[in-house]
Amino acid sequence: MASDLAFTFLGTGAPPVSLRRAGPSHLVEGAGRKVLIDCGSGVSQRLVAAGHRGADIDLLIVTHEHSDHLVDFYQLVVSSWHQGRARPWRVLAPAPALANMRAQYEGFARERALRIAFEKRPDATGLDVIFEELHEGIVGLGELAIDAFLVDHRPVEPAFGLKISLAGSRLVFSGDTRLTPSLERAAQDCDLLVCEVFIDSQMPVVAGIRSAETVAAVQAYHMTPAVVARLAVEAGAKMLALTHLVPPGADTASLAGEIRAAGYAGPLIVGEDLMALDVGARLLRWGGATLAF
Ligand SMILES: [Zn+2]
Ligand SMILES: [Zn+2]
Repeated sequence: MASDLAFTFLGTGAPPVSLRRAGPSHLVEGAGRKVLIDCGSGVSQRLVAAGHRGADIDLLIVTHEHSDHLVDFYQLVVSSWHQGRARPWRVLAPAPALANMRAQYEGFARERALRIAFEKRPDATGLDVIFEELHEGIVGLGELAIDAFLVDHRPVEPAFGLKISLAGSRLVFSGDTRLTPSLERAAQDCDLLVCEVFIDSQMPVVAGIRSAETVAAVQAYHMTPAVVARLAVEAGAKMLALTHLVPPGADTASLAGEIRAAGYAGPLIVGEDLMALDVGARLLRWGGATLAF
């Protein structure tokens, strides 16, 4: 059976404000399930723009505690309730990220109680959240197999990448990380490698914003285009997609050129918000266009 594994870029940005790239968030669909990876700034709007609703998400996985990956958690919960969500959220995240989301949730406890009592919506179950700590290993979700693995984004730890498989298709999502053996292993022979990228050639020192020390520090826990390209080549990834672009305003043609110059010659997708990939059928949909790759 052909896999119906689908991957949608909801937010391909990072902390800097970008009108083109919302905060990090991606949707995986397969076997009738919808899994949201991270809930960065703008996730609720991007879900609707992509034809989905927070109300229909089966599982939220947050990869690590950085604010860009979880800042819209409470907005996602409330906006999904307004869409008619009538079942609790299941949220999986490493302990520090869970602590942050619990704090968001608790911070609004009084506000939530007032809403429930006053708005008299049919069901308040959609506001409930089941928080679970994410560990290495398989997260069962029917036929959709999600395997969380530790990556190296120190000093932020733990941080996770994900291997997601369905009916013979396998996609690997790097999460935020420097190059690390666990990611190299996970990416071996995958159908689609979705990687973060820190575009060092487009991150100049800017007085008052970032020093040379800042650029070096941030680069140290991310991956440059050359590193991503080598990873894809050495792992034998059948397709490479880039997301979490730093800086979000990067020139994508020059980014693609750097990936080619570093030796990766396979199918290359520089992710854009609302771009959707059908991994099994090798189709890309974006802005009304459908491309086979
Ligand atoms: Zn990030
Ligand atoms: Zn991060």
